[in-house]
Amino acid sequence: MSLTVQNLTRRFGQTEVLRGIDLEVKSGELVALLGPSGSGKTTLLKIIAGLDWPDAGRLVVGGEDWLDKKAQERRTGFVFQHYALFPHMKVRDNIAFGLTVMDRAHRPAPATIAKKVEELLHFLQIPHLADRYPAELSGGQRQRVALGRALAIDPAVLLLDEPFGALDAQVRRDLRRWLREVHDKAGTTTIFVTHDQEEAFELADRVVVMGAGLIEQIGSADQIYDHPASPFVARFLGLTV
Ligand code: ADP
Repeated sequence: MSLTVQNLTRRFGQTEVLRGIDLEVKSGELVALLGPSGSGKTTLLKIIAGLDWPDAGRLVVGGEDWLDKKAQERRTGFVFQHYALFPHMKVRDNIAFGLTVMDRAHRPAPATIAKKVEELLHFLQIPHLADRYPAELSGGQRQRVALGRALAIDPAVLLLDEPFGALDAQVRRDLRRWLREVHDKAGTTTIFVTHDQEEAFELADRVVVMGAGLIEQIGSADQIYDHPASPFVARFLGLTV
């Protein structure tokens, strides 16, 4: 679904962490939020997920005002770097989790959930992991399962916060390609947070460069590299001005 953020601000005490964010994400688009640590990326993601609330501004998803909705009512899927899987549940039960805890009116029948999980396991190319426990998986496999858990509820928006941050370089590159494929096939609207410019530019349709609570620039790799909008963007990307 499309997502619109308008003039969003968030303060913690004296510190203005988001200073008027305007962002439009089209339905089915993959957008990366790229910026140094502390620039407000996670705070923006948490506000979209309903895990934090802005002081002012608007958040509209699929035409609905999301600031009126609690986290449970928003249908976001999220994967955080350290958002661990449930250790006592097999992979298939981890993936099913979001469906099994839906309220009675929306919860699918057990047979429907089982079928959906089976489809997702194949879709994500991990059917061989179905009956393993998280402790038996590599870091990369765990993040594939975490994405399966996030996708199971058919999220209106998929939110990924440094999901590959703890993994080594080769695994990160493999997962990047895999995520792009999965995103394209699923047609999800995805926001991916990273401080790694290579990752952002390879993965995303558009990159949103953030610095100190503001959006400095939005564009494709070519647009941003060829025409950095500010000395901050040029410095952050290691370009000379
Ligand atoms: P990023 O994801 O870009 O690293 P964050 O959104 O995590 O940035 O943080 C932006 C700023 O907000 C940081 O300076 C951080 O210390 C501050 N911050 C985040 N959450 C809180 C909180 N709950 N209380 C106080 N300050 C916070």
